[in-house]
Amino acid sequence: MGDGLISIVIKWQGKEYELDGLEGSTSVEDVKKQLQDKTSVRCENQKLIGLKHKKAGTAVVDATVLSDLNLKKNAKIMMMGTVDEEIEKANQRPEDLPDVVDDFDIPTMDEMPTEQREEFLAKIERRVKEYKVEVFNPPEENKKLLVLDIDYTLFDHRSVAENGHELMRPYLHEFLEAAYQNYNIVIWSATGMKWITAKMEELGVKNNPNYKIVAFLDSLAMITVETKKYGLIETKPLGVIWGKYPHLFSEKNSLLIDDLKRNFLMSPKNGLKIRPFAKAHRNKDTDKELLNLIPFLQFLSMQEDFTKIDFDKWESYCSI
Ligand code: MG
Repeated sequence: MGDGLISIVIKWQGKEYELDGLEGSTSVEDVKKQLQDKTSVRCENQKLIGLKHKKAGTAVVDATVLSDLNLKKNAKIMMMGTVDEEIEKANQRPEDLPDVVDDFDIPTMDEMPTEQREEFLAKIERRVKEYKVEVFNPPEENKKLLVLDIDYTLFDHRSVAENGHELMRPYLHEFLEAAYQNYNIVIWSATGMKWITAKMEELGVKNNPNYKIVAFLDSLAMITVETKKYGLIETKPLGVIWGKYPHLFSEKNSLLIDDLKRNFLMSPKNGLKIRPFAKAHRNKDTDKELLNLIPFLQFLSMQEDFTKIDFDKWESYCSI
């Protein structure tokens, strides 16, 4: 290794990848490109943990160059990310679908031909029978059901950061603690279980002393439905949970919060579309979406039948 050249070790899924001969002018993005070649994890799906800027308080972004980083000798950088094939296997949704799609035009259940609906309901039945849920804390009978998406709902999964906490949506723990008073909390992400577990552990959501999580659900609990406009899309049918706990949960007492409306397709009366939390570094000081949802959740927990509530107008029911 020549003078002034930098070598770093990246750890990913138990393996170490050494990148050496890097110039000080090499950017984080260049490092990601090299890692993409070595690991097949696409740059945009990589998250490098433990990168610190020399200037305290300055965020590390893709354009940051290595000479501006506080790299200790032989320091290992942890990478989080999933290989495309796995993502595709897990998601099975068209990659060309934009991440945050203006999906107001997605048809409702009533607009689908009956035979298609039956086919989709049969898929839900199969998930009820075959999808194994690991229950961390058994659901409590006197509480309603709150199902939460992760990416862009609780966490900005696209920005670069030194650690996951920087990408956490503000007031996440306050929100979960308040919700736990009246709701059984389930986390449901369209990614794989390994990734969900890693994120929830990093953010301190799993095993939090102030609230309990019932379970995590991943992409395998989702179903694919066919729509005229978008073709095949993946959706999160609450019917999977209702089928598993028929005596506890139904459309009358369940709420799914997600930044993508298409996830409500099979349970349209139970979805609340949240504003996406992206560009964490710019928005973390101003985003109050989770904080503002707390009084609404309290109000909702007193309702006998959630289907009578218009979730598009959640902000008008109560405000702080
Ligand atoms: Mg999301």
